[in-house]
Amino acid sequence: MPGRVLVVEDNDMHMQLVSDLLTLHGFNVLRAATGARALVLAEECSPDLILMDISLKGMNGLEVTRMLKQNPNTAAIPVVALTTYAMQHDRVQAAEAGCAGFITKPFDTRTFPALITSFMQKGGSDGGREHGESAGCRR
Ligand code: MN
Repeated sequence: MPGRVLVVEDNDMHMQLVSDLLTLHGFNVLRAATGARALVLAEECSPDLILMDISLKGMNGLEVTRMLKQNPNTAAIPVVALTTYAMQHDRVQAAEAGCAGFITKPFDTRTFPALITSFMQKGGSDGGREHGESAGCRR
């Protein structure tokens, strides 16, 4: 079963592409266009995975990831960085912020769904985490 993915992306076109692709493959998609919204949805909806655009306006994806990792309620959710920056330096920064993985844009739409599933399986350290019943999440 695919699972629930929170997509954090401030570019409408990228957001549409990523969420359409995930929806097509059976994932339940939550969307956040800002870091602040992502923090709220992550806590309320306990997604199985968070796809994090690093170059967000305002609070960037690395800052959002650090905050997610500092919050015990969201720390176990694997965060995968989604970015056009593909330099080694950026990978190191993403890992240091707490990202479990790294996907560079543009990505291969054929392998993307399987990649998401693999991050989901290896990313979370607590496999028994409950989700989906949070009162604040109506999605
Ligand atoms: Mn962006």
